[in-house]
Amino acid sequence: MNISEYKGILVFAEQKDGIIHKVSYELLNKASQLSKELKAPIYSIVLGPNNMKVDELIYRGAQEVFYVEGDEFNEPQELLYKENIVAFIKKLKPEICLFGATSFGRSLAPRIASGLGTGLTADCTDLIIDSDRKLVQIRPAFSDNILAHIKTKTYPQMATIRYKEFEEAERNIGAIGKVTKIESVDYKNNLIKVIKEIKSDTTDITEAEVVVAGGRGVNTTEGFNMLEELARLLGGVVGASRTVVEEGYISSSQQVGYSGNRVKPKLYIACGISGAPQHIAGMKESLNIVAINTDPSAPIFNIANVGIVGDIYEILPKLIKKLSSR
Ligand code: FAD
Repeated sequence: MNISEYKGILVFAEQKDGIIHKVSYELLNKASQLSKELKAPIYSIVLGPNNMKVDELIYRGAQEVFYVEGDEFNEPQELLYKENIVAFIKKLKPEICLFGATSFGRSLAPRIASGLGTGLTADCTDLIIDSDRKLVQIRPAFSDNILAHIKTKTYPQMATIRYKEFEEAERNIGAIGKVTKIESVDYKNNLIKVIKEIKSDTTDITEAEVVVAGGRGVNTTEGFNMLEELARLLGGVVGASRTVVEEGYISSSQQVGYSGNRVKPKLYIACGISGAPQHIAGMKESLNIVAINTDPSAPIFNIANVGIVGDIYEILPKLIKKLSSR
């Protein structure tokens, strides 16, 4: 591999309905810091619906935006995205590629890394450049007990970065950059057949102000219907521990924790969740935590502002009745 062929920092901009996810602006902010040290250009790539507005990425610091247009890109289809992005990266040869560690970014980035035959550091919390011009990717390890500093030998150096870790890049409406349309690759997905669609909340859980989360103590459909009703009354969304995601009660996009989403709502209601370190890693920064659990020694009570020892099947109906009558 000839490392000198690789130049620039590429930020993958995630979008939904043509609206860029804020994590992309956070990545552009970090890219701007790195580019000053590397003296490297900042590129961004976005795949999205027809007539999408991409200038916002220029205002946030990208010097050149590449975009692929097509309504099929409005669905988060990893394989379709992967085929397009791998082909593009092979041509552009950026030295660094950054993805948001969102639900989609976490699923997409490893596929791209594998398509490129390069390494990937997932869930980074910081990035720095060392004296050899190498990217040092920093991420918590061993249940957040140490901060690992990781360098990849392969190029491009790829990382996913947690959402809300950096400030968004400032918006400069006078910024000038280049916008280049690239053609979509011819790809037909013969690998996936949809056999069951798991219902997922349409609101992004990482943006919600109220999260009503359920764990193994709620493992019935009736229990999750109650959580949905409570979330609706509070203007929030339903979250979950990994256990119930694995049991198929709720989509993985709603998982909170170390291997799920990191949330910081104003109110987090943990229902029938024990409070394993891997769950707490994703919600401990919530402003107010209410825990409902039958076991008074459940670790979730150690971080709760309000703890209720009791059965959710007795407590939640009362709470829902009270809120419904307001
Ligand atoms: P449990 O630990 O079984 O707790 C259920 C709780 O419900 C108990 O405290 C019980 O007292 C209470 N309960 C039972 N019935 C009732 C009732 N009727 N009313 C009220 N309370 C009741 N987990 C995550 O959540 N997110 C992650 O991202 C995540 N990532 C992981 C990554 C790795 C590498 C590993 C190894 C594990 C990860 N886990 C994650 C799993 C984690 O370790 C725990 O196993 C999981 O969080 C436990 O889920 P839980 O609290 O729902 O279940």
